[in-house]
Amino acid sequence: MRRELESVLEAAESWSPEATLQWAFKRFGQRIAISSAFGAEGMVLIDMASRVQPDFRLFTVDTEFLFPETYHLMDHVEERYGVKIEKVYSLLSPEEQKRVHGAALWTRNPDQCCNLRKVEPLRRKLGELSAWITSIRRDQTAHRADARKIEWDAKFGLVKVNPLADWSSKDVWKYIHAHNVPYNPLHDRQYPSIGCTHCTRAVRPGEDPRAGRWWGFAKTECGLHVKDDLPIHVRTNGGISPELSRLVTILTADMPKDSA
Ligand code: SF4
Repeated sequence: MRRELESVLEAAESWSPEATLQWAFKRFGQRIAISSAFGAEGMVLIDMASRVQPDFRLFTVDTEFLFPETYHLMDHVEERYGVKIEKVYSLLSPEEQKRVHGAALWTRNPDQCCNLRKVEPLRRKLGELSAWITSIRRDQTAHRADARKIEWDAKFGLVKVNPLADWSSKDVWKYIHAHNVPYNPLHDRQYPSIGCTHCTRAVRPGEDPRAGRWWGFAKTECGLHVKDDLPIHVRTNGGISPELSRLVTILTADMPKDSA
């Protein structure tokens, strides 16, 4: 069984993003959704998905602190791709957060702020799903370096699909220009990575593309893609857990015949 699982995961590593999406939509139907913050990579995935599965599900965690340009892009996505974005919010409004945790929590404890406004709402949303699709790339941060195209998300307890894991930023922009994909105009103003207004600034020449996120803090991730545990194929260490067994069943069905 372990060999079978490894062979599926290995096969997926050579699939194109489109083939990975095709497999994912076929396997999970309406129990899978794309998670997007509408960055450049997210826009590529949305465009690809619209060609593969016209009625794909798309959701976003709206922190209520996003840039006007991001909200405008969301409206444009709904119009252009004919999809209704499922928006998830924190249990606390910005005003309630201020009352309970004090003003400008992001300046004092950005991890707590991200937990309240991003991680908890995401966990709630993922509870509805069997799998989620993300646009993370391995070369974005150290936490993402070992991302596989298909993996078990031990933190949230479902399958995670990362079709662009092996793409570079250059690949992303090549696709955007080749397919005339809409994107956030802030990217043209030195914002390679865009999050909340409070925690995002333009980068200076020569800076890391994510240097504009949470500057002044060691933080590089909001917590959505930070693993709590070792990957399942490492954790099981020779044994077959019920969790692994479930994952094998899920992954071995409906593999694409031609996934090059
Ligand atoms: S990115 Fe900043 S403002 Fe947004 S949720 Fe995280 S800490 Fe809060």
